[in-house]
Amino acid sequence: MPYTRILVSGYWLLVTALCGCGSHHLYTGNRVLMGTFVEVSSPDRRAPAIVFDEIKRIEKLLSKYIDDSEVSRLNREGSLKASADTFYVVSKSKEFWQLSDGAFDITAAALVDLWGFTHKKYRLPGEDEIKEALKLVGSEKIVLDSQANVIEFSVPGMRIDLGAIAKGFALDCAVGKLKEAGIKSCLINAGGQVYGLGDNFGRPWKVALKSARGPGYKGSLELNGESVSTSGDYEQFFEQGSRRYSHIINPATGYPADSGVISVTVVAKEAIVADALSTAIFVAGREKGAAIAARFPGVRTEIIQEKNQ
Ligand code: AMP
Ligand code: MG
Repeated sequence: MPYTRILVSGYWLLVTALCGCGSHHLYTGNRVLMGTFVEVSSPDRRAPAIVFDEIKRIEKLLSKYIDDSEVSRLNREGSLKASADTFYVVSKSKEFWQLSDGAFDITAAALVDLWGFTHKKYRLPGEDEIKEALKLVGSEKIVLDSQANVIEFSVPGMRIDLGAIAKGFALDCAVGKLKEAGIKSCLINAGGQVYGLGDNFGRPWKVALKSARGPGYKGSLELNGESVSTSGDYEQFFEQGSRRYSHIINPATGYPADSGVISVTVVAKEAIVADALSTAIFVAGREKGAAIAARFPGVRTEIIQEKNQ
């Protein structure tokens, strides 16, 4: 069986290549959206455009890099009458915060900024700066009015960053649109967060997992109506001295997560769950992470530790 190999962050996607044999043709497309490469493969020629349009729509609501997105407006004004989608993602984020004992926290935004991850101008902040930023952290400070769809911050200056959940949500929305259009088969990869809808001409969509350190594969996964997400310290980080500082912050300390985990892979039916949970477990570490995962029936997880642990 011939394969097409697509390199993506954290993954090699093995897409069974049956192109050129008449009815077994995969239509593919790729585009930069949500700050990453989005790649789509489907036997239905309409799929790429449907996926791109939907992800673009969600990006316009949730991106902190787009000035007039709902998230940017909320971050500027401290209060927002939100669309149903934005309200849903923020409510879900609060749920994940609770279920992860605070490891997943979208209000870590102030710390993500402080450490320079927002604009890739990395720096080691001082203790007092971290202390100040921590005053703006804690999802209990997000007040939700579900009757009016209003989101409010209880502390001035605080902000949210949906970087750990927005791609997952966008994938779920895109899959919803595909289903509405009657499309039963599609593989979407959004920068290492992947969703496999249906199968690939009777064979499962296969995703091969690349090693977190060094070359080579560490295994492969089959996805049918499932999403896989990986959070790792190799995605975005900077090094100072002998230390590696990753873009995933521990909201309890204000420092980049330092749980001894180098990579977490989560497979779940909902991409939003896979996305949020992989980030949460990366922060919580192996033991606490496994306990958090157990609160989500049906998910599969793989946690990779530093070698000496
Ligand atoms: P992911 O790659 O899905 O694990 O998401 C990482 C991104 O989520 C970071 O680049 C930050 O924008 C944001 N983030 C960092 N730390 C946290 C945290 N503890 N909880 C939620 N989001 C976070
Ligand atoms: Mg995530």
